[in-house]
Amino acid sequence: MKDNELLRYSRHILLPQIDIEGQEKINSSKAVLIGLGGLGSVISMYLASSGIGRIVLIDHDEVEISNLQRQIIFQTEDIGKKKALIAQKFLQKLNPLVKIDTCIEKVQKCSTELIQDANVFIDASDNFETRFFLNELSLKNKIPLVSGAAVRFEGQISVFNLKPDSPCYHCLFDSSNFDLEDNCSTNGILSPLLGVIASMQVIETLKIIADFGTTLDGRLLLYDSQLVEWTTLKLKKDPDCNACKG
Ligand SMILES: [Zn+2]
Repeated sequence: MKDNELLRYSRHILLPQIDIEGQEKINSSKAVLIGLGGLGSVISMYLASSGIGRIVLIDHDEVEISNLQRQIIFQTEDIGKKKALIAQKFLQKLNPLVKIDTCIEKVQKCSTELIQDANVFIDASDNFETRFFLNELSLKNKIPLVSGAAVRFEGQISVFNLKPDSPCYHCLFDSSNFDLEDNCSTNGILSPLLGVIASMQVIETLKIIADFGTTLDGRLLLYDSQLVEWTTLKLKKDPDCNACKG
């Protein structure tokens, strides 16, 4: 590690659970982030500042004025521009040592080269169709999925598909029970709640990559910001799950 890297990442390296070895794992890792909304804005900044060596940003949308209340990587002047390209520019300035690739299509249309060989998928999407697709992609490629979602005053975080016996997203949420077109564009959301959930997703991502602490594999963490209550639910692999059985 060069001097400028030792300095840049010194506050990670000072943590014995990470040290130089862990930071080197972070620097040589690849994370695919799906969605650059309220969660993805914050996630992408911490991924880049933490030194995740290769970051793939996937989002097909343009910045709208109603996004600016919570999607804090974007400026007022960015309205009408592609989110992934604006974010790429911002993050490259934040940390020139990391490589940032983009796909400005829906994830289903992005090239497999961009997605394969990732250490982790991070779901910051806003609809069930994408979430179920990502779960299948994660299972197929054996890449763990760090999942986060928030609506109104509540959020949730979990890690799926970390090990062969880990529950998958579909074990928890059966796709037949959902309107796949449903998304949160019609609901309100408390802006800084997204920062809380997004930060938790990056913590889980760094734990998986640098191998420290205990992840949320097999657990779902729920946060109610009005009551200031955190609840942990244990998750089990569903032996009859259509997505992950056999
Ligand atoms: Zn499953």
